Amino acid sequence: MDMKKCEFWFVVGSQFLYGPEVLETVAARAAEMAEKMSESKLIPCRIVYKGTIKTADEATKVMKEANFDDNCAGVITWCHTFSPSKMWIEGLRLLQKPHCHFATQYNRSIPNEEIDMDFMNLNQAAHGDREHGFIAARMRLARKVIMGYWQDEKPLKELGDWMRSAIGYKFSRELRVMRFGDNMREVAVTEGDKVEAQIKLGWQVNTWPVGQLVEEMNAVTDAEIDAQMAEYNEKYEMATDDIDTVRYQAREEVAMKKMFDREGCMAFSNTFQDLYGMKQLPGLASQNLMSKGYGYAGEGDWKIAALTSVVKAMTEGLEGGTAFMEDYTYNLDAGAEYSLGAHMLEVCPTVASAKPRIEVHPLGIGDREAPARLVFEGAAGKGIVATIVDMGGRFRMIIQDIECVKPILEMPNLPVARVMWKAAPDLCTGAKMWIMAGGAHHSVLTTAASADMLIDWAEMMDIEVVHISNETTVEGLKQQLFLNDLAWRLK
Ligand code: MN
Repeated sequence: MDMKKCEFWFVVGSQFLYGPEVLETVAARAAEMAEKMSESKLIPCRIVYKGTIKTADEATKVMKEANFDDNCAGVITWCHTFSPSKMWIEGLRLLQKPHCHFATQYNRSIPNEEIDMDFMNLNQAAHGDREHGFIAARMRLARKVIMGYWQDEKPLKELGDWMRSAIGYKFSRELRVMRFGDNMREVAVTEGDKVEAQIKLGWQVNTWPVGQLVEEMNAVTDAEIDAQMAEYNEKYEMATDDIDTVRYQAREEVAMKKMFDREGCMAFSNTFQDLYGMKQLPGLASQNLMSKGYGYAGEGDWKIAALTSVVKAMTEGLEGGTAFMEDYTYNLDAGAEYSLGAHMLEVCPTVASAKPRIEVHPLGIGDREAPARLVFEGAAGKGIVATIVDMGGRFRMIIQDIECVKPILEMPNLPVARVMWKAAPDLCTGAKMWIMAGGAHHSVLTTAASADMLIDWAEMMDIEVVHISNETTVEGLKQQLFLNDLAWRLK
């Protein structure tokens, strides 16, 4: 998906009461605001002024158009003057794209000498935005409300982040996931309702035979492998003499990418229990594909594979990285409590602190040859981990604030990429709450997306979301989970 092709429609509220001159001023200012906001580095793609709403027919028409315009990723509304909201009801009822109500004002300050009743009538967002807010609340519409001056960094950052959530929504609704093999035998949390996922999240999750991948691998040419190896040599440090093993990963990557491109898939899963006809579990191959925006998760975990690609799509162009992650083991020394995350092989190199090394080591499980993989330490910095579990009848997303640290140990015998982090509010309380909420061992770790971005995305997708932060308490979470359960059963 090309983020730059997406646009957001700026739809401004007014009415005929104030005469044509006021409406001309409103239109000119709204166009200017859309243009200036689009120029901000905090805004990921273009905001386009799409007209001033003065009648019910105009409101209905613009929302219908927004629904059917493939480039329109969301609608931003604001009321420059008062704009009676009964005329917005049908339009808002029909709107199927993410909606943000940006409560702002053209002028920053009240001008002491100039202010008179004409000024008051023209600049009455304080009035208009309350009427506009009421109708959305009355209609129980999912929408984001942002309040602040439209040239200030804080509201623009909030708006830009919401736009990224909306891009995640658009990406989700179009996402196709390729599964090689089923979920790992007997595992519960990686299971899920694929029909519900397609209805709620848009994800088309389907399976392709491993045998077809093997045929595709056999058809890969030496020249294609050479080109893939050149890419590996440029991006990574070749820390092995076993080049044939690395070339096998290149063969796997070329073959998988061909299948993804043919089917339009941006996420995939496989399992070490079904590598029929393959010599190695894809390690380096999966890691390098993830670095290009493909979502992946192991053991057939299509939910986390899909979520990884969604977070990557939302955060395109931002600093930081996003990786498939697994909670592996703890360091429980008092004052140095950390979680050590890794996977058998497949952690995305976008979270690496330095150039990753290509290494070959035996893999204890899967009964295949020693695979090539990227080995690195994760970069330090604030981030989140997020997972989606199927609660039976609904999906629950769980987000936890974390702080990645430079690993406190060298761990020279650990042959995989690893990330070490502190969990909010502290490791033991945080892990306890994650477990209380049913959080999986698989997650998406990101230092590029904020918790708010994913919370807004979850609201757009209409799924339950739980956020574990420094402010979360065990007692509060327990009550939230209980009330959520009741509410979602009624929904
Ligand atoms: Mn795993």
